[in-house]
Amino acid sequence: EESAAQNFIRAIISEDLEKGRHTKVVTRFPPEPNGYLHIGHAKAICTNFGLAREFGGVCHLRMDDTNPTTEDVEYVENIQRDVRWLGFDWGDKLFYASDYFERLYAFAVELIKKGKAYVDSLNEAEIREYRGTVNEPGKPSPYRDRSIEENLDLFERMRKGEFAEGAHVVRMKGDLASPNMKMRDWPMYRIKRAHHYRTGDTWCIYPLYDFAHSLSDAIEGITHSICTLEFDNNRALYDWFVENVDVPARPRQYEFARLNLTYTVMSKRKLLELVKGNLVRGWDDPRMPTLAGMRRRGITPDSLRAFCEEIGVAKTNSTVEVEKFESCIRADLDRRAGRVMAVLRPIKLVLENYPEGKVEEFEAPLFPDEPGKGGSRKIPFSREVYIERDDFTLDPPDKWFRLAPGREVRLRYAYIVTCKDVVRDPATGEVTEIRCTYDPETREGAAQAGKKVKGTLHWVSAAHALRAEVRLYDRLFRDERPDLVEEGQDWKAGLNPDSLVTIQGAAVEPSLAAAEGGQHFQFERQGFFFVDPIDAKPGAPVFNRTVSLKDSWAK
Ligand code: ATP
Ligand code: MG
Ligand code: MG
Repeated sequence: EESAAQNFIRAIISEDLEKGRHTKVVTRFPPEPNGYLHIGHAKAICTNFGLAREFGGVCHLRMDDTNPTTEDVEYVENIQRDVRWLGFDWGDKLFYASDYFERLYAFAVELIKKGKAYVDSLNEAEIREYRGTVNEPGKPSPYRDRSIEENLDLFERMRKGEFAEGAHVVRMKGDLASPNMKMRDWPMYRIKRAHHYRTGDTWCIYPLYDFAHSLSDAIEGITHSICTLEFDNNRALYDWFVENVDVPARPRQYEFARLNLTYTVMSKRKLLELVKGNLVRGWDDPRMPTLAGMRRRGITPDSLRAFCEEIGVAKTNSTVEVEKFESCIRADLDRRAGRVMAVLRPIKLVLENYPEGKVEEFEAPLFPDEPGKGGSRKIPFSREVYIERDDFTLDPPDKWFRLAPGREVRLRYAYIVTCKDVVRDPATGEVTEIRCTYDPETREGAAQAGKKVKGTLHWVSAAHALRAEVRLYDRLFRDERPDLVEEGQDWKAGLNPDSLVTIQGAAVEPSLAAAEGGQHFQFERQGFFFVDPIDAKPGAPVFNRTVSLKDSWAK
């Protein structure tokens, strides 16, 4: 079922090539530079660039920058960086819709001259009212039958800046009785007195989406224009523009389901609101569904591509469970992340029968389950080690295989230890230190090396521990479907207050002093961690939790 869905655009392209309708496939990815790219865009990038690659064609990267008020060069630069990071290359095919403003203007003049477009002087509310409803045909605007000369004159004067915003719009002349509202004289141009980040103040009229998008596709010779399902109704309008304007190419639009993920939002407007409201630390906050955030969290482009491939290209909208994405991330990091020991919330464990001042070193492989892969490092061991506070309890429940008074556990790569006593804070009663003995015969190569105990704990020698900051990232929302919160309701109410927990004094093994920004590790028993590429300093790493080892949210 999935492979059929995955192939519907592939099948169309194959047939077009076989039947000679096209000799070369040209697709495009057309982001509006009004925000950072998110995982939904990754889906569109993988689809468009992936299909071009598969069929030996090309994919254009086009900045769909026809709306001056929201666009910025910062976004243009980050979009390019993100597409490259995902592993795709547009070669010399980088385009800007704003470069077509002059040609688009000429196309509008052409439509006016053909009697297929007109300048309307109704205001927005009137236009909406005249358009009618699905059950009731629209009424013609009193300006619909202006002469071609008058339309040309007004359009030129709109361009010259003679009118206020909203005074006039240019509309295509469609069918006021069409069941498709988009075909009821949809607007093509509006007056907007705004500075454009590329064209400056050259223009005070700007083309609207359907007109600009379809004709930009035609200008570039796009063969298959792939967009998301909401644009289903726009297809007739898309076709109308490319049929009624004299353009050399005849692109066609195909729609596929947009990607939605649980526990996050993907609307750029909402993501911008989170950034502006300081609810996250920026577009690249590791909790964001943006590619910049994912990169910083330690999610690799390989796992994003694998995820996009796995979910396929569907024809009906659905929301993918984030667990599916997380399992792609784990599968990828499992291959690349060396295993190390880090104690996030340390408590001291003292070995009463271990000589003071003695230090041993244990050789530990980075990939214990794959001999020969990744090498090993030496881990110092001494009389005092840190273990995880959570790995000790005074009052063990059933099936507790970790440490408790009188219990035995193995310290990974080292010895079996037995808990003899605890030290408590006299004021609070809180356990501040665990007192144990160790059995020297249980180290590797010794007589009791093979002795079985139920629990194995990670640890770090106290004297050798490197202190590090660890950032435990979790889902941005507690609410499974924050995207479904109705307009006017507070979608931010579902934010997860514990989406970031920062630990300052984690004790990590000393080999991590050499960790560099951008490296992946598995902290044994904890999860996959990534050295923050921005905040980590030499000798003072900052670790971002990319994902826990298994789905701790599982029901
Ligand atoms: P928003 O509605 O949040 O502003 P957008 O879809 O308008 O997002 P664009 O920059 O215009 O954002 O999107 C560029 C391309 O990425 C479009 O072709 C769009 O169809 C595609 N795209 C955007 N979001 C998704 C998604 N969630 N799943 C798949 N494709 C997407
Ligand atoms: Mg948009
Ligand atoms: Mg858009």
